[in-house]
Amino acid sequence: CKIDYQPASNLLENRVVLVTGAGDGIGRAAALTYARHGATVILLGRTIAKLERVYDEIEAEGGPQPAIFPLNFEGATLKDFHDMAETLDKEFGRLDGLLHNAGLLGRITPFEQYNPELWEQVMQVNINGPIWMTQALLPLLQQSADASVVFTSSSVGRKGRAYWGAYSVSKFATEGFVEVLADELENQSTVRVNTLNPGATRTQMRRTAYPGEDPLTLRTPEEIMPTYLWLMGPDSTGVSGHKFDAQPPRA
Ligand code: NDP
Repeated sequence: CKIDYQPASNLLENRVVLVTGAGDGIGRAAALTYARHGATVILLGRTIAKLERVYDEIEAEGGPQPAIFPLNFEGATLKDFHDMAETLDKEFGRLDGLLHNAGLLGRITPFEQYNPELWEQVMQVNINGPIWMTQALLPLLQQSADASVVFTSSSVGRKGRAYWGAYSVSKFATEGFVEVLADELENQSTVRVNTLNPGATRTQMRRTAYPGEDPLTLRTPEEIMPTYLWLMGPDSTGVSGHKFDAQPPRA
């Protein structure tokens, strides 16, 4: 946990960073924060109006001109991911950072009642889509001097919890995939890959999962950004295959 990290104001200058689910919640905060630290941010998500609002905010703050990439992980095909790689290659020639943040909660429900279609949907958005997108983008990440890939995990991706179903399983798969990929890339690539658990954070997803909770007791997405910056910037160069938390466990 790097919640006390003090990033340089130009930490991400000259870096091209793609953020998935950049229109809302933690992804929105990460996109704005990365741009404030000098990154050219590629805003990927499914609701274009939300991405446009983030784009306008970055422009209004005088940040580097961002780019919008509309994509819905449900229904996205390998061709979509390869077209994305081709577009980014033409536009930027490399990718220095990739934050896999988009996520779907599915339903908190006993496994006996879990709908198989919803299960597939959650696995598609949370793990299968991000994995094939990563495969398509690896050549571009290899073009960077020290690219960082960050996958978003959860406490239920490290210890299972009743009723969390596909969401929990998708986050366990994320942790497993990152171990496999980091081990493959070790000593033969400048690309590092780690998982980051944001911890309880004031967003729509958290409200849906815990409707009775007072959101004011939770950290905001902005407050957990130090670890997001540390992992994306040069201070974490050489760190790969590790599990991080963006905030200390709650008392
Ligand atoms: P939100 O629900 O607020 O935001 C999720 C983002 O993912 C939205 O921008 C959403 O787009 C996007 N998204 C969802 N489905 C798709 C899809 N099919 N294709 C493309 N984009 C999609 O969630 P949070 O900000 O809370 O969560 C961000 C990440 O952090 C997730 O991976 C989540 O699992 C994880 N996390 C969050 C915690 C928390 O307490 N908030 C705790 C632990 C982990 P749209 O705006 O269009 O819906």
